[in-house]
Amino acid sequence: LPTVIIMGRPNVGKSALFNRLIRRREALVYNTPNDHVTRDIRDGVAKLGDLRFRVLDSAGLEAEASSGSVLGRTAAMTGDVLALAQCALFLIDARDGLQAMDLDVGKWLRKHAPGIKTIVVMNKAELLDDISGSLAAAAGEAYTLGFGDPIALSAETGFGMTELYEALRPSLEDYVLQVINDEDMLDSGSAGDEDVDSKLPLQLAIVGRPNVGKSTLLNALLQENRVLVGPEAGLTRDSIRVQFQYEGRDVYLVDTAGWLERTKQDKGPSSLSIVQSRKHLMRAHVVALVLDAEEIARARRSMKHTEVVIARRAVEEGRGLVVVVNKMDLLKGKQSSRMYESVLNAVPEEIQTVIPQVAGIPVVFVSALEGKGRVAVMRQVVDTYEKWCRRLPTARLNRWLRKVLLKSSCSFAVMEAALKFIKYFTQVKARPPTFVAFITGKVQLSDTELRFLTKSLKEDFDLGGIPVRIMQRNVL
Ligand code: GDP
Repeated sequence: LPTVIIMGRPNVGKSALFNRLIRRREALVYNTPNDHVTRDIRDGVAKLGDLRFRVLDSAGLEAEASSGSVLGRTAAMTGDVLALAQCALFLIDARDGLQAMDLDVGKWLRKHAPGIKTIVVMNKAELLDDISGSLAAAAGEAYTLGFGDPIALSAETGFGMTELYEALRPSLEDYVLQVINDEDMLDSGSAGDEDVDSKLPLQLAIVGRPNVGKSTLLNALLQENRVLVGPEAGLTRDSIRVQFQYEGRDVYLVDTAGWLERTKQDKGPSSLSIVQSRKHLMRAHVVALVLDAEEIARARRSMKHTEVVIARRAVEEGRGLVVVVNKMDLLKGKQSSRMYESVLNAVPEEIQTVIPQVAGIPVVFVSALEGKGRVAVMRQVVDTYEKWCRRLPTARLNRWLRKVLLKSSCSFAVMEAALKFIKYFTQVKARPPTFVAFITGKVQLSDTELRFLTKSLKEDFDLGGIPVRIMQRNVL
């Protein structure tokens, strides 16, 4: 197994992350006798989406580390172990901001682990958010550690684990591909080339409450009865991995049986399926959330609580979201035509209200029963996926930036303040698209400025409807 080591000063939450990654309380603890002190490191097998890796928690070092020179001792110990690792997770506390000791850990890693991919992880980020800008500010600071794009997460609540997955995946990819091959999911897999991204198999999750028509839609997508459909609970139990082709593209349905089973049990308190949903959302690139048109026509709100939670979570976790309003055939009668109209309007409006941070999330109206869903749904799914995979060349982004800044200085004088200090703009990552604005001096982009940039970026590069992230980094 590939090995990932968790590093960081005391109290940043290394053990919490370790526990979350191994998903159980106990772990093997092994002692590494080093001189006359015995230090231990916890060692476990982590599961994160389809990634499996060995994870080492260096938290056991803390006791003695804090009694002497942290780095001296940590170094002696971890040096040996580090040699085993492919990847280091460098944990910091998102709320505390960078501490002197964090900088030391960073220096140490740079010196002793130059060949190891280091990912800065901002833990305890559950209270920070994009809207107030606190997350962006913390990320900007974390960026100055010099290890690239930081990940914000909460080991305590599980928020952001998808990002961790996305960040780790490239380093551990070879191993994943091997596993996938073993499972006959992919006969030839190569990743890495930027243009290849959107040609990688698309992982689609079809989610929604019981009886909205997920299985029926699935059948329409598969164009064959591979999945049983019916109102009774627990009918869907075959193939966990379903694959089909759409316009020459491989599409994998993510743990469909699991989803259907769990959501069918969703009759009672829905917390279980919501908790479970995170895991599945994490494996999906695009989430198709299915709603029932007839229910919407009858109710005053289009989305039930569970649906709002799933939609929000999909976006928070950086997934592409497509909303599918099913059973439109039931609204076709004469007296329903007004209902039909109102459903057409109500759903996009409500989506916009519950997820204000992403404008233009696609909504498709279908009748899975009449077999009319396939093309409409897949067109949006593929379109969303392609946007989600898009990589914009830095030169183009910077030409764009100059135009946008010019435009903003004419039309929006207030904005000049921090915007004009952006020297350079670059995309650091796709899936979902993530950008960094490099800003001269200590200025921070305001929320309005960030929103303005995001909006312009989305409009000018046709990135509407998908989560796009912009972080800032201050440079001298
Ligand atoms: P799931 O629980 O979300 O998988 O829902 P199913 O696919 O099992 O569908 C639940 C019920 O709704 C079944 O009786 C389907 O025949 C019915 N149904 C599904 N899609 C449609 C549709 O587009 N129109 C109508 N009228 N009924 C549908």
